[in-house]
Amino acid sequence: MGFNVIGKTIMKSLFGKPATAMYPIVKNEFYPNTRGRIENDITLCNYCGLCGRRCPAGAIEVSKPEKKWEIDRTRCIVCNFCVQVCARNALSTERHYTTPMTDKSKRITTLYGEKEEPVKEKVQENA
Ligand code: SF4
Ligand code: SF4
Repeated sequence: MGFNVIGKTIMKSLFGKPATAMYPIVKNEFYPNTRGRIENDITLCNYCGLCGRRCPAGAIEVSKPEKKWEIDRTRCIVCNFCVQVCARNALSTERHYTTPMTDKSKRITTLYGEKEEPVKEKVQENA
């Protein structure tokens, strides 16, 4: 009985399909609920900072004065919580993964919103 099971396992290992894919020759298959990476449509963001305050991994930093939104991809565990709390629907979970990196400086994605033009003061001319 035991030998039979071992024999089947050996035969399956020798002649069966490999359990792994030949990535990157064979592309990854993504499923509808795959959690790949967090993206921000910065045009919708109002820099409220809620996503950063709720992030359990401390991966997001937001600066309202600088109109800056930043995510540390090596800290993010793709729990999706920031996407759920964003009232502006600026955040989304994309199905593709972050490209593996050896350069640690590339782990942080920083986005800046458009700064408003400074309001020019009206100079009153003396008549
Ligand atoms: S919660 Fe949404 S709107 Fe607020 S800072 Fe984060 S991404 Fe921007
Ligand atoms: S998915 Fe989770 S861990 Fe990643 S930034 Fe959002 S709240 Fe933080």
